[in-house]
Amino acid sequence: MATKSRHPETLALHAGWRADATTGSVAVPIHQTTSYQFNSPEHAANLFALKEFGNIYTRIMNPTTAVLEERLAAIEGGVAALCVASGQTASAYAIQNLARAGDNIVSSTNLYGGTWNLFANTLKDQGIEVRFVDPADPENFRRATDDKTRAYYAETLPNPKLKVFPIAEVAAIGRPLGIPLIVDNTAAPLLARPFDHGAAIVVYSTTKYIGGHGTSIGGAIIDGGNFDWGAHPQRQPLLNTPDNSYHGAVWVEAVKPLGPIAYIIRARVVLLRDLGAALSPFNAFQIIQGLETLPLRITRHCENAEAVVKFLTAQKNVTKVIHPSVATGDDKIRVEKYLHGGHGGLVGFELAGGKEAGVKFISALKLFYHVANIGDSRSLAIHPASTTHSQLSPEDQLSTGVSDGYVRLSIGLEHIDDIIEDLAQALDT
Ligand code: PLP
Repeated sequence: MATKSRHPETLALHAGWRADATTGSVAVPIHQTTSYQFNSPEHAANLFALKEFGNIYTRIMNPTTAVLEERLAAIEGGVAALCVASGQTASAYAIQNLARAGDNIVSSTNLYGGTWNLFANTLKDQGIEVRFVDPADPENFRRATDDKTRAYYAETLPNPKLKVFPIAEVAAIGRPLGIPLIVDNTAAPLLARPFDHGAAIVVYSTTKYIGGHGTSIGGAIIDGGNFDWGAHPQRQPLLNTPDNSYHGAVWVEAVKPLGPIAYIIRARVVLLRDLGAALSPFNAFQIIQGLETLPLRITRHCENAEAVVKFLTAQKNVTKVIHPSVATGDDKIRVEKYLHGGHGGLVGFELAGGKEAGVKFISALKLFYHVANIGDSRSLAIHPASTTHSQLSPEDQLSTGVSDGYVRLSIGLEHIDDIIEDLAQALDT
């Protein structure tokens, strides 16, 4: 690591890279290569046998991507990371790395629609059952657990409900049972620090705030290095029983000299090797550029969002505003416990006129882009019921927090006067 700082502002610029040893290049070079020349047949054999670490093939590792991985791990307070082709891949691999057919995981109901589909349909088809529970009562996780439960899963700041997840409470239920909590922190990078509260794994869609400029799809899995994968061997068979694809290696044992990182090593050398959703080096480079300014940008996203919340709250055709800054009761306590330095850039609101009003509002926007994305530098809007969540049944839509008149805004970095002006004219249309 090129810096000893613990400050995200410094880590975002310096962790994992100083300059290229041969050329002196300060910017991280894009290593647009598929493969790497071995020094000798012995060197090649050692790399394949994991006796030595080094580059083999870009499906499994790449020097540009490695800088992004080290930087993300440093900023998050984890020990190692694996970057993959998308946030969806990160969520899927995070679970497939622990659960196989016949196993289950327990997940919060408050999820991004794509993750919901992955869990309710694709993982189910693969024989992995996802048991959805309401996180309002953390004990629901315990109640849904049985001998085959391999992980708990949640989003810190679930879009569209924007109710902060009780990370410490659920992590504390899982740890004595050998069950890790996997947290998708996509909507709250830097604002929430799941590892500080006992989460074992953090996943990101780096497509969003981390990349920040709407140019590159990517995902990351970060290992907190704080979970003892060998403490309950029956609970985590994929890490504690011989792996036929590696001459019977038992990951917890094989990786022991490197620390408690059996999970992230297996994700790379088994899942990424076999399923192959690697991040392209060019996208890794773009995401590194975004990450460098994340600490500055996230603050402005949050400030602009707070101003939008104040504006929307005063509008007569807006029946409800959804944002952590206006949470009440237990939700407010969780906001105060888990979010620091801002409440995030996502704002939801409900229009009195339901679906028709939602669609009309979106059509009238001029500055906001109408896109299926969040966390871009530009302001974005969408009507989930007719788009991102349209593949869900009406009941499932409601359980993920999407009503007919719900509009989701991702507040960008434009001048706040221009953002408010656009919202005002669209609401008046
Ligand atoms: N997780 C969250 C919270 C998201 O909002 C998204 C996408 O919107 C994803 C995961 C999936 O990420 P990607 O689009 O990079 O596959």
